[in-house]
Amino acid sequence: MSCRYTRARTTAEAVEALVAAKGEAHVIAGGVALVILMNERLVEPTWLVDVSGIDALRSIDRLPDGMIRIGAAVTHREVAESEIVAEAFPMVPEMAAEIACGRIANKGTVGGSICLADPQGDPPVAMLALHATMRTVGPDGARDIPAREFFVDLYETALREDELLREILIPPMKPGSVTAFGKYAARKAMDYTSTISVAVRLVRGADDGPIEEISLGFGGVGQTPVHSEEVENVFVGAVPSDETFGRARKKLFDVLDPIEDHLYSADYKRHVAAVTLRRTVMKAFDGTWEGEGVLIR
Ligand SMILES: Cc1cc2nc3c(=O)[nH]c(=O)nc-3n(C[C@H](O)[C@H](O)[C@H](O)COP(=O)(O)OP(=O)(O)OC[C@H]3O[C@@H](n4cnc5c(N)ncnc54)[C@H](O)[C@@H]3O)c2cc1C
Repeated sequence: MSCRYTRARTTAEAVEALVAAKGEAHVIAGGVALVILMNERLVEPTWLVDVSGIDALRSIDRLPDGMIRIGAAVTHREVAESEIVAEAFPMVPEMAAEIACGRIANKGTVGGSICLADPQGDPPVAMLALHATMRTVGPDGARDIPAREFFVDLYETALREDELLREILIPPMKPGSVTAFGKYAARKAMDYTSTISVAVRLVRGADDGPIEEISLGFGGVGQTPVHSEEVENVFVGAVPSDETFGRARKKLFDVLDPIEDHLYSADYKRHVAAVTLRRTVMKAFDGTWEGEGVLIR
């Protein structure tokens, strides 16, 4: 089967191609995920719209209102090395630096990861905890979709077929906020296998008082990247203690519905999520980490 290829130079050109293709086109950025799907014949595109050369999608900026804007075609490597992002949300570059290996990080993009909506992808998990907004562009202009409404089902997002993701907007955090990212991955970097991750953003109470606010993202424990207000509510007004983490663990076992796979049972994934949550909250709260770094092998 032949496949048409459009290398768009502007978002307008890309949208024009998507509209003309009437749902038959696939956007391609780094191609890290899409080319694997094509090799496996799981996707057989007849039109590829390449957005990796659109300058407007390639930059990271701090906007005048303190919002951080990450263009959809920014690579994981560029996020890992961004001083703007590190200063605003230290866990994001830390997370990006742990993605796969150099080759994948150099080509794979944040937008590609978010639009793929793999429940194990790391950037979607961070964006849930940071209450990011996905700004899309289509024939009717731009549309803002909160991260918490973007991931609809397994590999399915709220994007329409004639839209592309233009940028991710992350709001500034309140004073006293801290962040951390934790990941359990029994693998080497080049395996595409089961991982479980947790992103934490929390506001510490004054003088080591109870947690004032918390927001969490979970990866690898459901059909989509997961957030749960029920789990978050366990921590609000509480200090991190065995009792608090015990209640959070119980809640996680109630709300998480992980996909069982060849490596782990659903209950084992719930258990790992609870342990990783505890370690990651403690890392955010007082900088300690009871494991061996972000990536526990
Ligand atoms: C060996 C291996 C290890 C990996 N390890 C990790 C890991 O540790 N952590 C992790 O998070 N990920 C991991 N990944 C996944 C990888 O990081 C992502 O698949 C990659 O970021 C996807 O980005 P891309 O630009 O290559 O997307 P592409 O492959 O180009 O596209 C992916 C999907 O997104 C769509 N898309 C892309 N950009 C846009 C856009 N702007 N608007 C609309 N739709 C768009 C495409 O149509 C396609 O459906 C791994 C992958 C491999 C192969």
